[in-house]
Amino acid sequence: MCSNYLLVGGKHFTTQQPLTDRHKTNIMEEVLIKNKQKYLYDNYPFEDSPKLTDKKCCIHCNTIFKVGDYKVFKDKRCDEFIYCPNAPTCNGTVIDWFSLD
Ligand SMILES: [Zn+2]
Repeated sequence: MCSNYLLVGGKHFTTQQPLTDRHKTNIMEEVLIKNKQKYLYDNYPFEDSPKLTDKKCCIHCNTIFKVGDYKVFKDKRCDEFIYCPNAPTCNGTVIDWFSLD
């Protein structure tokens, strides 16, 4: 009797997903935007999209930044979100930006 043979039994053991891949599924992927003004215009959730030169304050990381420095990340379902320039350290999105007027 060879117990090892029975254990393997013709089936291949599926190896665990490598750590790096598992990591990727939990972390949002950054999307590079070519035309940031147009993207903002098309995706800004409020009425008037700001200019890329406008300054906003992120309430999550308390940083004043230039709108044009925003980042875009997509989640596992490929939904895209406009993020604070300090993402992924900061999880503030476009709705967390305060105007400095
Ligand atoms: Zn922030």
